[in-house]
Amino acid sequence: MPFFGCHLSSTGGFAAMVKTARSIGADTFQFFTRNPRGSRAKAPDPGDIQNAAGEMQAQGFGPVVAHGSYTMNLCTRDPEARAFAAQVLAEDLRRVALLPGCLYNFHPGSHVAQGAEVGIGQIAQALEQALAQELPVTVLLETMAGKGSEIGGSFRELRAILDAVPSPRLGVCLDTCHIWDGGYDIAGNLEGVLEEFDRVVGLNRLKALHINDSKNPLGARKDRHACLGEGCIGLEALGRVVTHPALQALPMILETPNELPGYAREIALLRSFKIS
Ligand code: FE
Ligand code: FE
Ligand code: ZN
Repeated sequence: MPFFGCHLSSTGGFAAMVKTARSIGADTFQFFTRNPRGSRAKAPDPGDIQNAAGEMQAQGFGPVVAHGSYTMNLCTRDPEARAFAAQVLAEDLRRVALLPGCLYNFHPGSHVAQGAEVGIGQIAQALEQALAQELPVTVLLETMAGKGSEIGGSFRELRAILDAVPSPRLGVCLDTCHIWDGGYDIAGNLEGVLEEFDRVVGLNRLKALHINDSKNPLGARKDRHACLGEGCIGLEALGRVVTHPALQALPMILETPNELPGYAREIALLRSFKIS
């Protein structure tokens, strides 16, 4: 059985997120390391983190997922902005390292007309710097929809980053909406997509999933999330993903357009699917 949860607001701190997660039947959750629009972050409170960690252990939580800011672009064109983004990444890792077993997921970046190859080199450089800190955090590259000049819209681009940064603390987070929008048919051919993922990236690198339906058809490269069963992927296909034998014991995070009651319903729905 996977761990199920959703994206939560971090404004009340870590212990509050654990409490909220429990109240909606979750045993994992995701949060932004800083305001998704800005780049400032308040210092984490060690007492709050200790309380959260104790409660998570007592309640059998799986690994939780920190999500880097959308504005952090490791392959932006301007060298100064790029250096700042690399600094944000390194600081984020130090911050979440206080939470035991925390995964840190981020969007690889947009190369903005520099070309994917240049962009991948810049992302790799920032990752090498950040990972040189030897912190107990696994960093996850998120599979992207490939909109604009986004890097990570194909499994091959993620493989290129993994090849450039030989670290066991680098993995991948698979977003069902994003790969669907990127042209991977998880509704019609889940086995084929997972085989390709395993061949190119390696299932051993997969550390978390984002479970979202998509407002757009296969290959649309749009990245608009829909509630489960209200999009083009559909409930049956998403049910096959969360019950797939190769994907058990991983945290699965909802990023659907919901408030807490909607998340509680969707988590209950995910738990109701049985491996067939
Ligand atoms: Fe994301
Ligand atoms: Fe996502
Ligand atoms: Zn998305």
